[in-house]
Amino acid sequence: MKAYRASLLWFAPHSEGPVRALFEEDGLLVVGPNAAGNQVVQAIGSYRDVVGRYPGMAVEHFPGRIIAPGFVDMHIHYPQTNVIGSPAEGLLPWLENYTFPEEKRFAAPDYSAQAATFFIAELLRNGVTTALTFATSHAESVNALFAEAQAQHMRLITGLCLMDRNAPADLLNRASNDGLVNATEQSLRDTEALIQRWHGKGRLGYAITPRFAPTCTDAQLRGAGDLAKQYPDVWIQSHVAENKDEITWARELFPQSRSYLATYDDFGLMRQRAVYAHCIHFDDADRALMRDTGTAAAISPTSNLFLGSGFFDYASADRVGFQYGLASDVGGGTSFSPFRTMLGAYCVGREGKTKQGLSLQPQHLWWQHTAGAARALGLEGVVGNLLPGCEADFVVLNPKATPLLARKTALATNLDELLFSMIVLGDDRLVERTVVSQAI
Ligand SMILES: [Zn+2]
Repeated sequence: MKAYRASLLWFAPHSEGPVRALFEEDGLLVVGPNAAGNQVVQAIGSYRDVVGRYPGMAVEHFPGRIIAPGFVDMHIHYPQTNVIGSPAEGLLPWLENYTFPEEKRFAAPDYSAQAATFFIAELLRNGVTTALTFATSHAESVNALFAEAQAQHMRLITGLCLMDRNAPADLLNRASNDGLVNATEQSLRDTEALIQRWHGKGRLGYAITPRFAPTCTDAQLRGAGDLAKQYPDVWIQSHVAENKDEITWARELFPQSRSYLATYDDFGLMRQRAVYAHCIHFDDADRALMRDTGTAAAISPTSNLFLGSGFFDYASADRVGFQYGLASDVGGGTSFSPFRTMLGAYCVGREGKTKQGLSLQPQHLWWQHTAGAARALGLEGVVGNLLPGCEADFVVLNPKATPLLARKTALATNLDELLFSMIVLGDDRLVERTVVSQAI
């Protein structure tokens, strides 16, 4: 057992009505093993109330600091770390000149391993303790990332990228070495083998990962849907409705489906633990399909602003009522920092020309990247919060990390003002330390 004394930020258990953040100026967070031997939150509250229940316990004190839940990134591409900030004339040249050449390098285990080491260190440095991430179409890239996440005790979900058409030949899934099994069938066999090797091992989870419908044949999507049914607790991740050209293309390839989104449903790829990045250009039937299947959206604001893709419609999402959370979408996204992503989400919310504009509340923005994202992933009560029983993943924030942050946060008269100062002015400098739950 160990305790941490600092200001504490966490969230009230989910209920109908507005998101409610809880804040304790002088708080105590007590961490200790659960029955399975994993470090979880044992108690949280004011220092005065909690300390007497644990006599003689070691207490680490962080004066002037805020302990908050580790951030949850619902969509990121680990092979695109080097692609971030690459100049290009839109999505297609960006893919051809930067993304595809980089992703090809992940066929080599050594290249994948060093990229995985950097990627996970960079997430943790930015305070991200849970991530749902793409790998490449090479099993080597998946194995390297899982191995590094396991070594760092990080909660991480990834999977083999399924793409058996409409991409450069050396990025497509490959046939078996003896040529007897075609690429589509081999990609599904590899997916199943990787599920069995990694899913549920410690803090790791597998995600069935069609890149997006246009790069997958009907047979591959059907096979992915079959696996999703066979393994109901693995995740599904893909992209949908990011930009208009992509939608036109998807509609041409799958004309029998009601919409681009419905294509995934038609192949059995919408259910709880299915997560689709972007979800911008939806109609209400799409939104109802998200809600009725328990599928979640990974909103990727810095990527959508960078590529000019459009603006996620929060008002319509809430009116229909489907689940969502925030994502960096690096390398289309422009930062690993959850603070940049939350600020991007605020700007996206404000936009009022293409949809209803609104001002997302600071507590709600923070929730979207922690407890809300965890809930959307089916990990409510596991990560993204510091309620008793949650895995002890947290960040230690220094609200005086820069001169401007110090000046501004000192002026805060309530929790919303404090949180919004950090959302607008914050980046990796705010994150003094990241702690992930360890097995005993
Ligand atoms: Zn993406």
